[in-house]
Amino acid sequence: MVDSSKGAKGILLTQIKQDFVTPANAIFDYLDIVEKAVSKLDLQSEDELNQIKSSCNKLINQYEEAFNLYTGSESEGDKTPEEYSELRHNLRTPLNAIIGYGEILIEDFEEDIPESRTRRIIINDLKHIIDLARETEKAIEVFVDFIRGNENKSDEGDASQVETAEALFKSLGDIEHSITLSDELKSSDILIVDDNKTNCEVLERRLSMSGLKCRTAYDGESALDEVKKKTPDLILLDVILPDINGLELLKRFRSKHSVESLPVIMVSAFDDVDSIAKCIQLGAQDYLPKPINGTVLLAKVVSSLERKLLREREKELVNELHIQATTDQLTGIANRRVIFDTLENAVSKEKIKDYKPFAIIVFDIDFFKNVNDTYGHAGGDEVLKSFARLLDNEISQPNQVGRIGGEEFLAILYMDNTSLDLFAKNLIEKIQQNIVDYEDTKISITASGGVAFSEESNSSSDLVNKADKRLYKAKKSGRNRFVLIDSEIVGE
Ligand code: GH3
Ligand code: MG
Ligand code: MG
Repeated sequence: MVDSSKGAKGILLTQIKQDFVTPANAIFDYLDIVEKAVSKLDLQSEDELNQIKSSCNKLINQYEEAFNLYTGSESEGDKTPEEYSELRHNLRTPLNAIIGYGEILIEDFEEDIPESRTRRIIINDLKHIIDLARETEKAIEVFVDFIRGNENKSDEGDASQVETAEALFKSLGDIEHSITLSDELKSSDILIVDDNKTNCEVLERRLSMSGLKCRTAYDGESALDEVKKKTPDLILLDVILPDINGLELLKRFRSKHSVESLPVIMVSAFDDVDSIAKCIQLGAQDYLPKPINGTVLLAKVVSSLERKLLREREKELVNELHIQATTDQLTGIANRRVIFDTLENAVSKEKIKDYKPFAIIVFDIDFFKNVNDTYGHAGGDEVLKSFARLLDNEISQPNQVGRIGGEEFLAILYMDNTSLDLFAKNLIEKIQQNIVDYEDTKISITASGGVAFSEESNSSSDLVNKADKRLYKAKKSGRNRFVLIDSEIVGE
């Protein structure tokens, strides 16, 4: 007998039941629509409609009863083949009534209602009811085969699934949706993963009615492909898939994308807490039980998308704040705090595994006051920006440069004495050659620098003091030069 415990069979049974329940419930939706439409037309069709409704109730009740009896924990031993055909027969009886009365009503309405749009709609809806009844018929076959031990997989053709989806869409057009979404939310990219095309397309249709855009994937492999193509903002993931189990798929998504960057809402007929908990443990953000309620679906989807948008905005803000806190506003290069912190870290030899000796240079633009006096503060700013750009171009990782004050800059350079000498010579030339175009005039400047070497001290302030003193020396001895150590001058 069928094992009702959770596991592969349990999952398969859930799917089998779902394949029956979805079209059976949809019959009620259509009946409702037909009833409303004909009530305006004063036709004597209540009896037939009530017959269809009670047959559908009977059908669902009998199925539920049989499902529990044959798959529940109290299910008795194997049944005889006769019992199975009796079950099939019993389930088919209300089904035949639905189809029969549906056909009668179509005939009646074709005679009684004059050709009109309303007539076409009503007759179409009745045809959908008959189609849905036929779909439940197939689901009943699969169910009976399954409990007989003949685990034929549901083999509904794609075409019939699409037809059913289209039938459901038509009724969905009548539903009013009150949630209005922002354009930002509407531009979200949602991926729906469900092997049942009807489910997939109904979800897509429901969401698109609210202006949301969706992609669909009918199996695990295509879902992985879709995510690889472009990471969606949200995935609605069916627990049961033909190739890769939904939970397994969730694990795979999580191996590459965090919960924050790729929210997943599980969709399934599972109603036991364990499965839900497992989904959440594996990184699902939320859970939607089947059959899907349109309002709950939209609420959860919107809330998930909104949370993601908020997180992204928060991240942007934090990034922006970080940039503001670490860059010099005028020049855009590292600010005083960053370059001094870097220096502090660089001098703590014992803390750094692969410590390398380095040098620092404190730069100061020569006669900068004159630039301001001649070209105004704005002209001076342009010179500062251009000077910072030049330093930034010349000094790259692992070396670093920052603005430490008005027209003073500090560089940390992982260079030995010889290469520093060369670097300084080269830089002095480049500074001299750097021409700033400002309001039809060309401004050029020179700069002086004082150098200190990491071997000279373990303290960052000591090093800066030494470099400052040498800078002063460079200024005093004529500017436009760098003083390396107390006797060594570059650029004289
Ligand atoms: P020295 O060669 O001895 O360094 O002479 P100097 O004129 O460059 O030195 P001083 O320290 O006398 O002048 C620096 C000037 O830089 C004074 C100050 O107004 C100006 N300054 C400081 N910050 C800024 C700024 O952000 N923009 C502009 N335009 N000027 C600034
Ligand atoms: Mg100065
Ligand atoms: Mg100066």
